[in-house]
Amino acid sequence: MSYKDKNKQRKYQKAWARRHVQVRLDRHLRYKEEYEEYMTHQKCSKCSESHVACLEWHHLDPKQKKYDISSKKARAPLSTLMREINKCVCLCRNCHSKLHYEMRQSSLKEKHMRT
Ligand SMILES: [Zn+2]
Ligand SMILES: [Zn+2]
Repeated sequence: MSYKDKNKQRKYQKAWARRHVQVRLDRHLRYKEEYEEYMTHQKCSKCSESHVACLEWHHLDPKQKKYDISSKKARAPLSTLMREINKCVCLCRNCHSKLHYEMRQSSLKEKHMRT
């Protein structure tokens, strides 16, 4: 292979890598848009907060939890996320934090009662 060919090949690889990154970015954006569009129809089941920036998913059965939905929202299509969302209730950040606080308190109490 001549020097010129190698140069050409390197250029080609660079272009391919750039295109590849772009495709991935486009896909992430599409997933994210799809998810956010879905979220605009959701609201907190406790206080009815409906802003997408505040909404989170709480797993009803933590044993069935495979992953954190918000951390995966740009990496998987909505159809995949729905499988996980179906195990959850929609809560706003405040209500979600309060719920977990209460859960911690009651599990502490339980421990206390057993001893
Ligand atoms: Zn709420
Ligand atoms: Zn939760």
